[in-house]
Amino acid sequence: MYGKIYHDTFEIRNSLHSLFSQFFDEHSELDMETHNDIVKLRNKVGALIRSWMGSVKIQKKYGIKIPLHSTPISVGTFIEKQASSFNNIYKPCEICGENRITNYCHILPYSEGGPSHSNNYIILCPTHHHLFDHNRLKRIEWDKINFSNKLEASQKYIEKVKLPLIKKYWEKDR
Ligand SMILES: [Zn+2]
Repeated sequence: MYGKIYHDTFEIRNSLHSLFSQFFDEHSELDMETHNDIVKLRNKVGALIRSWMGSVKIQKKYGIKIPLHSTPISVGTFIEKQASSFNNIYKPCEICGENRITNYCHILPYSEGGPSHSNNYIILCPTHHHLFDHNRLKRIEWDKINFSNKLEASQKYIEKVKLPLIKKYWEKDR
C-alpha cells in the first residue's frame, strides 16, 4: 500500500530516523511534549522527502510539476478510515452512486508520488476504480467525473496521460 516511492526513499528516511534517535540520546533532558513535537517534525521531513522524490519522478516522466507537501501518513488516518467503514459511511461513487463500498482513487498515482490529498482523489466504487486505473471506463462513465476542482497537476495528468489512453479504448470499444 505504501508504493514504490516509499521503498525508494527507505534509505534516506532510515538515516533521518538514526539522526533523530541520536539527537534524543544526547538530549534526554527534553520533556515529553517537546520530544513529541520533534518526532512530528521528523515525520514531516520524511513525508517531504517522499513528496520531493515523487515530484522529481513525475516531472521527469510526464513533464508535470506537482507541489511539495509534508503531510505524513498517520496511524490516525487509517483508524479514521476504518471507523467510517465500521459505520458503513462511504461517499458515493462519482460515476454510479454506489455507496456500500467506495475507495479514494488517486488521479496522479500514489505509487508514482501523487499526493494523498482530496485534490488528487476521486471517489469510486471498486469496479469503477479498477476500470479507471486500467483506462477502461466508457465515455458516458468518464464524463460523470468532475476534475475541475482538482489539483492543477492532477488535471494535467488527466489531459496528457490518462485521456489519450482512454480515448484509445473508446476507439476500440466502438
Ligand atoms: Zn461506481
